[in-house]
Amino acid sequence: MTFKELNISEPILKALANKNYEKPTPIQEQAIPGALDGRDLLGIAQTGTGKTAAFAIPIIQQLDQSQIKGNKRVIRALILTPTRELAIQIDECFTDYAKYTGLRNTVIFGGVNQRPQVEQLTRGTDILVATPGRLLDLIQQKHIKLEHIRHFVLDEADRMLDMGFIHDIKRLLPLLPKQKQTLFFSATMPPAIAQLSKTILNKPLRVEV
Ligand code: AMP
Repeated sequence: MTFKELNISEPILKALANKNYEKPTPIQEQAIPGALDGRDLLGIAQTGTGKTAAFAIPIIQQLDQSQIKGNKRVIRALILTPTRELAIQIDECFTDYAKYTGLRNTVIFGGVNQRPQVEQLTRGTDILVATPGRLLDLIQQKHIKLEHIRHFVLDEADRMLDMGFIHDIKRLLPLLPKQKQTLFFSATMPPAIAQLSKTILNKPLRVEV
């Protein structure tokens, strides 16, 4: 199987060639077609499997193909991840894979001054990668609007639970638009995570590697 056979668009294929990715990993092969069709996804996969590209590629392609020229840039995809390190890594992946599209991505996380992050947001972004605490802070301060979000990723859900973020996630979920694609990833499926996935996913495609 090649990336081209997964119906990935030319600008993204070119970016993947730049990264020397020769072929999709098993999670990418299983997840990308369904995600490109707009389906919800339950991905049981650890870091190192290529799961970031499995959610980033379909999001970039869907956003790139629905981009309306002249429209103001608004947050249309939100990726929630537990740590600053993961947030930075994921944001770098979006920068790389979306290099030949007109899309813009921004990352926010706690433990640093919020001002540069707010300035970035003011310039406009299509894709936002965030850790839970800083996201909720900036929503509360009205620096972030959620109404245009069409793609939502919950990354490392089991780690979110372990780190005590479940309360933050439960506060965030009702603020998101009902109509959206949700991509849910966890390395393990303890009962609390299985329950959470059930409440937020709509007829998900289940992929496990
Ligand atoms: P992840 O599991 O998303 O953290 O990805 C693990 C590593 O695999 C990262 O360094 C990616 O750049 C790399 N990677 C992801 N997909 C591919 C692929 N199809 N071919 C080669 N490397 C990949």
